[in-house]
Formats: sequence, C-alpha cells, structure tokens
Amino acid sequence: MLACKIHAKEDLRIEQEETPDIQPGEVLLKLGAGGICGSDLHYYFEGRNGSFVVREPLIPGHEASAVVARVGAGVTRVKVGDKVAVSPSHACGRCDYCRDGREQLCRNMKFLGSASLFPHIQGMFREYFVMGERQCYPVGGDISLGELAFAEPLAVGLHAVNRGGELLGKSVLITGAGTIGCVTVQRGATRRRAHGHGVGHPGPSARASEAGRRRRRAARATRRRGARETAVRRRVRSVGQHPSAQDLHGGGQARRRRRAGRHAAARAVAVRRQRR
Ligand SMILES: [Zn+2]
Ligand SMILES: [Zn+2]
Repeated sequence: MLACKIHAKEDLRIEQEETPDIQPGEVLLKLGAGGICGSDLHYYFEGRNGSFVVREPLIPGHEASAVVARVGAGVTRVKVGDKVAVSPSHACGRCDYCRDGREQLCRNMKFLGSASLFPHIQGMFREYFVMGERQCYPVGGDISLGELAFAEPLAVGLHAVNRGGELLGKSVLITGAGTIGCVTVQRGATRRRAHGHGVGHPGPSARASEAGRRRRRAARATRRRGARETAVRRRVRSVGQHPSAQDLHGGGQARRRRRAGRHAAARAVAVRRQRR
C-alpha cells in the first residue's frame, strides 16, 4: 500500500509500505478522504509543530473518513463496508481522567499524525490504517466520504459551542476563520440561533474587499445611529425642560423628570441597538 511521509521540512514522499495487521478489537480501515489541518502544514513547511519536532518519517493526517476493510475478533461496533468517521484521539483508558469519563484530557493521549511522542504516532494519510473499534463511528445515509472527513473539526466546533453556554439571541465573536472557525460559525448560528461573526484570514484580495465593505457598512451604521440619538436627545431635552413642568412640580421634581426621561431614552437606544 502507499503512505505519505514527511521526512523533514519540505521533504514529503509517497512510499510503499506493508499493509498493517489487526489484533482482536481492532479494525482495518481504507482511507476515504482526509482534511489537511494546520498542524499537518506546520509539519510539512517547518518540520515541526511548535515543540513537536519530526525526528523520524511521520505520516500526517488526523481528520479523515474511511471504509471498514476488515474487523478483528470481538469487534461489534462496525462491520466490513461501513462508512466511518474516525476519532484521532487514542486515550489510554486507564488514567484518572479516562476513568472519570473525560478521555479527551487523557494523560497518555496518543494523537494520530503527531510527533508529540517518540516513536511518533503515525497518522491517516495512507491507504490503510488500524484503529481500535471505539475510535470508529459508523455513519449511514448518503453522506459522502469527503463530507464525513469534516467530523473531527466539526466536533471541535460543537465542543466550543457547547462550552459557550446559552447563545440564544446573542452575538458571538469567533476568532480564526479556518475550517474549525467556519464550522463553529455555522453551528453557533444555526443551532443556537446566535449571530456568529468569524474573524480570520480569508486571503489577501477577499480580505481587502471585505474590509472595505465592513468599513463602509460601519460608517453608514454610525451615521444612522448618530442621527437617531441626536433626535432622541432633542426630544428628551424638550420634555425635561418644559417650563410648565418646572412651574407645577418645582426644581427637584423637574430634575427627576429630566433624569427619568434621559434614562428612558437611553433604554430605547440600547433596545434598538440590540435589535439591529
Ligand atoms: Zn486538525
Ligand atoms: Zn487516559
């Protein structure tokens, strides 16, 4: 079978390799489609991802879909031919976090396609790879293998949306408009009916034209808001300083009235701002 390996900075090779064997409880998967993550790009362009340095040939890839090719003894979760989303996080199942049901924080996590440990944990950019059955999530229906490869980044976005708490009706700022930022905007905006705004780097020309559009939109909004607030303030002043009010209720009453009028106007402006 073929495997894609990073040997060093900007040294990527497609090489022949033995198709791996499976043990009881394991599943042999045939790669469907794989997303290229920022960490994969770091390994390729820099030969490292932060402090994780490529010290032996590394197969990148941790966002992939696959089809089950073979199952080991005792596997019940999937069968041959199933389309699966693959979790790249291989937790130990024994540490305190794992026993506590928080496997994502496992102290001995083996994350696929990562040079965090040595020997490196090889990733999914190869024709076949082996996973424990618990890492395979069979998905039915007519979803394509390409769409299914988004399961991992989507899971990250969903986790962020869930951590965000009640988002109903709120405006949400999401920094970083890469894959995870985009799926987070989509989930945040559709599932919880919040308005998601992604901020990131969509490329120089798109960035320039979008920045121009944003500036013009903001300038228009400011002019509109300014005009409205001036009108409201003028109205408040005319109510609060009405001579008959002072004559009838005295200075203190009139001052309170003016203050109440101003507060009401401020509330009206705030409500209008929220609605926009
Ligand atoms: Zn990733
Ligand atoms: Zn663990």
